[in-house]
Amino acid sequence: MADLPSDDSGDPRAELRAVVGQLRTNLTQRARSGLARVSVDLTTRPAPERKAAAAPARTGAASAARPGAQAAPTTPAAVAATPAVEVVAAPDKPRTGAAGLKLLRDEIGDCKRCKLAPSRTNLVYGVGNPDADLVFVGEAPGADEDAQGEPFVGKAGQLLTKMIEAMGYSRSDVYICNVLKCRPPANRNPEPDEVASCEPFLKRQLAAIRPRMIVALGKFAAQCLLRDDTPITRMRGGLRSYEGIPLMPTLHPAYLLRDPSKKKLAWEDLKAVNAALARVGIHPPRTPAP
Ligand code: URA
Repeated sequence: MADLPSDDSGDPRAELRAVVGQLRTNLTQRARSGLARVSVDLTTRPAPERKAAAAPARTGAASAARPGAQAAPTTPAAVAATPAVEVVAAPDKPRTGAAGLKLLRDEIGDCKRCKLAPSRTNLVYGVGNPDADLVFVGEAPGADEDAQGEPFVGKAGQLLTKMIEAMGYSRSDVYICNVLKCRPPANRNPEPDEVASCEPFLKRQLAAIRPRMIVALGKFAAQCLLRDDTPITRMRGGLRSYEGIPLMPTLHPAYLLRDPSKKKLAWEDLKAVNAALARVGIHPPRTPAP
C-alpha cells in the first residue's frame, strides 16, 4: 500500500487536500481493477477510529511505514475524510444461487408493475433448489398457487410433482417457477404487456440458478423462452437452446389432466431430459421410473 500523504505545514486544509488526493488515487486504482461502486458511511466507523480523532495532530506516516500495515487515520482531517469503503460486486459478476434469487425477490418486492397486481393474493416467485440442475417453467399461478404463494400446488401441480418424482427427483431437488408471478383473473391467458413486465424476472431467476436443463411446460413457457410460436404439440420432445442452456418443451400438466392419453408423450420428453443430463454426467438422486 502506498504511504499516506503527509503534510508538515500544520495547515489542516493542506492536510485535508493531501488526504483527498490520496483517496482519489486509491479509488482510481480500485476502479481499474474492477470495483463498481463504493458506498461511503461516515457515521458508522468503529469506536477506536473515533478515539484516534482526539490524538495529537500528526499524519499516519509512522504507522504506514510498517510494511503491509493499513495506516490508521490519526488526525482530525484524516479521520473525517476516511470513509468506510465497501467493495461491491462488479456488474459483470451477478450474484447466483440463493443469494441471487433473494436479491431479485427483494427487488421485485410488492410488485405493482402490471395490471395483475390488484387482483392477486400472493406473488408466486418460485420454489426449490437455488442451485438446481433442472428447472421447470410454467405459465402463471392458478387459484391454489395464488392462495398459497407457491407454484404448481393445485391439481396440475400434483401431477407435475408425480412427473418430477418419476424422473428420480423431488420437488426440492429441482426449481419450479412460472413466466408470470401473479395469477391472471379467472385463469385467463397471460397478456403481452404482463409477459413483458414479468419475463425479465424469469430471465434473471434462470441467470441466478444457471441450470443445466430447462423444461418448458406448455406453450406459453416454451414460446416465451424460445421466441417461437410453433404449436407446443409440434415443438415438444425436441431439445432446444435457451441462452446456451438446453431446453425441452413439453406438454403442460393441466393439458395432460384434460387429455390423459397424452401423458405418455410428456413422459417420453422427460426421459429424454434425463438421458441428455446423463450425457453430461448428471443423474437424478433416485432411480427413475422405467
Ligand atoms: N399452472 C402453471 O402454469 N403454473 C402454476 O404454478 C400452476 C398451474
